[in-house]
Amino acid sequence: MKGPKAKFSNFVSIVDTSLEKVGLARHALLKSSECLVSEMKGSITELKKLNEDVVRDNTAYKNVVKNHEETIKINQEKNRNISGELEELKRKVTILKQSHVLATEFRSEHLVEMDDEKAARDLFVRSVEMVEVEVFSYCNRVCWFCPNATHDRRTANHHMDHDLYIKILKDLKSCNYSGMLSYSRYNEPLADRIIVERIREARDYLPNAFLHLNTNGDYLTTKYLHELYDAGLRGLNIQVYLNNEERFEHEKVKNRMLLKLDKLGTDYEIVRDTKNLWIEAKILFRDMKVRMYGRNFEKNGVDRGGTVEVEASHVRTSPCRSPFNHMYIDYNGSVMPCCNVRSDIPQHKNCIIDKLNPTSSIFLTYTNRLSARWRRGLVGFEEKKGVCESCNFAEFIDSPETRKAHEEISAISKALE
Ligand code: SF4
Ligand code: SF4
Repeated sequence: MKGPKAKFSNFVSIVDTSLEKVGLARHALLKSSECLVSEMKGSITELKKLNEDVVRDNTAYKNVVKNHEETIKINQEKNRNISGELEELKRKVTILKQSHVLATEFRSEHLVEMDDEKAARDLFVRSVEMVEVEVFSYCNRVCWFCPNATHDRRTANHHMDHDLYIKILKDLKSCNYSGMLSYSRYNEPLADRIIVERIREARDYLPNAFLHLNTNGDYLTTKYLHELYDAGLRGLNIQVYLNNEERFEHEKVKNRMLLKLDKLGTDYEIVRDTKNLWIEAKILFRDMKVRMYGRNFEKNGVDRGGTVEVEASHVRTSPCRSPFNHMYIDYNGSVMPCCNVRSDIPQHKNCIIDKLNPTSSIFLTYTNRLSARWRRGLVGFEEKKGVCESCNFAEFIDSPETRKAHEEISAISKALE
């Protein structure tokens, strides 16, 4: 075949071949596109699965967290209940102890004057656990929570008459006193070295008494501590104070305490650290009972017979044990009913129970008319009067049990008034 027909036939063949190639290419394209789609589908499925896993894991995680939170809640609730029960138990134990004290330590003999010295000594021996003596008047500080802030104890130092001091020791010796003899009140007992001699004398007269003192620690050194021990002191409370005007700051008090402990160089252990309330260390020194502590007087101070601005709004209804089992003797021989009142403050003058001299008997002072009157005024759960009206010192819990335990003596006291 020649000519145009042949040319045409050739052209058709070329076109057919091209079409075939296009078809093939199209087919290949479709194939790869299908592959791609299928791959994409696979990825999407994979992704979906992954996503589900994540969601599932997340839900499982959330469930675990939820369970933990619920367990925590349940435990917290249990804890609250246990703490509540524990507090309630503690309160019950305190009430039981206090009921025992109210029923046994407040006795009718305490409420009447007694002028027989032997009977008076007998009652003293059965009742008094602590005699506090101020062998001189000086204190170097004027702490804001102490009456010394407004009543001078810094410009002079008055010593207790030595004969009077020896007479007190002799009286205590006559009943083989084995309670506490504390060198405290409103002086700083370590400010005058005469304290060492006074302790030595007490040790000679009273081998069985527990000799003790409270100090602000300003004069205390390790050497002094040994001297006090050798003289016979066996109990020491070292108070950690900031400056006279400063209010309690927990960390500041703690740091000061640690510095003092470091300076003293004795072993110690921190036994209490209650934020903004109390920090205390037990000092390990020979067989002496030594405590060092700082307390927040804004929270646990006493208004000291209305002379210090602490808890002024408090109304006392609780009975008070102080004039029953303690005796407080000021540097001038005045005997006071408790640690919170003192003979050198005008508004406390009428609290003086007696003024001792070297011929007095501390036993007759303990049972004299004023002592008995003080005790009558502090029995029962009614509102207290005078310097006691806002005092929060060593209170008894008002409860049916404590009232019951105190019922009989309260009735006796009322009948005597
Ligand atoms: S609290 Fe102690 S150290 Fe302070 S002024 Fe009173 S007696 Fe002195
Ligand atoms: S109630 Fe307070 S002020 Fe009154 S005697 Fe007792 S401790 Fe002292």
